[in-house]
Amino acid sequence: MPARRASCMTPPLQNSADVAIVGAGIVGASVAYWLKRLDPSVPVTLIERDRTFAQASSALSASSIRQQFSHPLNIRMSQFGLAFLREMGVAVEEKGYLYLGAVGPLRVLNDTQRAHGADVVLLNPEEISARFPWLSVAGVGLGSLGLSGEGWFDGPALHARVLKEARSLGARLIDGEAVGFERDTGGRVRAVLLDDGSRIECGHAVNAAGPWARPLAATAGIVLPVHARRRTVFVLSCPEKLPGCPLVIDPSGFWFRPEGRFFIAGTTPTPDEDDLPLEPNHAEFDEALWSRMAHRVPAFCALRVERAWAGYYEMNLFDANAVIGAHPSAPNLWFANGFSGHGMQQAPAAGRGIAELILRGRFETLDLSAFGFRRLVENRPMAESMIIG
Ligand SMILES: Cc1cc2nc3c(=O)[nH]c(=O)nc-3n(C[C@H](O)[C@H](O)[C@H](O)COP(=O)(O)OP(=O)(O)OC[C@H]3O[C@@H](n4cnc5c(N)ncnc54)[C@H](O)[C@@H]3O)c2cc1C
Repeated sequence: MPARRASCMTPPLQNSADVAIVGAGIVGASVAYWLKRLDPSVPVTLIERDRTFAQASSALSASSIRQQFSHPLNIRMSQFGLAFLREMGVAVEEKGYLYLGAVGPLRVLNDTQRAHGADVVLLNPEEISARFPWLSVAGVGLGSLGLSGEGWFDGPALHARVLKEARSLGARLIDGEAVGFERDTGGRVRAVLLDDGSRIECGHAVNAAGPWARPLAATAGIVLPVHARRRTVFVLSCPEKLPGCPLVIDPSGFWFRPEGRFFIAGTTPTPDEDDLPLEPNHAEFDEALWSRMAHRVPAFCALRVERAWAGYYEMNLFDANAVIGAHPSAPNLWFANGFSGHGMQQAPAAGRGIAELILRGRFETLDLSAFGFRRLVENRPMAESMIIG
């Protein structure tokens, strides 16, 4: 086994009980998959309280992937995610994202994205109209369109595939709810405690509890600013076809994209409260979406709501970026949380990163240290301007 970094000071895995991962959504499944792929001898246990994943974000996502971020690391993580989707044989409908916005900011973003290999092009209003004649360019300075490597995919299929691969490589999936951690006087986790009174001894524990990561972290006395924020997704029908429709991000904050013969759309609710029940907010369509959508696409005047669902964004209220790494007070308690609306696409890279930290004591594929806890402790938010509410 390669040398470990002194700061990690983890015991050799051969002598430890195992790696216990709380949560078997896409993030937990990905950590388990990469651990087993990188070192098949490592005993890995996934602890999941609901195998139906009925409320898991991984089952309720819009499952889209983009290269259009402002932070180079977010671009890289999504590029890794795209390659992983291809490797797993999960098809991506590469219809692109179209960000509509002001000239200055989109030009700056375009420079960064192109410098990091994103296949994006800027379109002026005339070019947007020529390509998408069904779209109104009122108030739009520029559009930024992904030409390849962006689109949407079957998220539950990806999740099922990664979980299946992890298990076929030997990861164990057990039913149970983690209610805390047993730690030694140095802060190291010795076991994950379950609600039935049992304990899973481990050399490492991973918090992959998605929107419920904050209460789990709190059981270890760790403040994690990840909040469960409900998002309603509307499934809509429109009598008119919109040829070549990408995933459109309106400057006012809503988004829509095709989904089979329908469209799906969503927006950031105001107020945006914690832990609301996972019932769709049906009123949101009339109150916050319909008129804005019809303003942007006149054919959307005739939109009809077919159905709606709701899922939790795991919003990191500190800076809307993921938290990936161990907390300074607990060197073998690993976090992969707070993906703030882009966790399906980032789970492959995050899973690999956590697996590398556990097995090798350092990041080897992508240096994700900028996502670590240190920035929270030092109050240095990581700037990402392209967050989709
Ligand atoms: C409406 C919506 C749209 C989205 N759109 C996109 C998108 O287009 N692209 C994108 O990349 N991402 C998107 N996301 C975000 C993405 O879905 C999430 O970031 C990702 O699914 C998070 O995965 P996870 O495994 O961390 O969490 P989850 O999938 O929620 O899994 C966490 C699991 O942990 C389990 N658990 C929690 N606590 C415990 C405990 N104490 N003990 C045992 N088990 C526990 C839960 O039961 C759950 O199964 C969207 C999310 C939503 C809600």
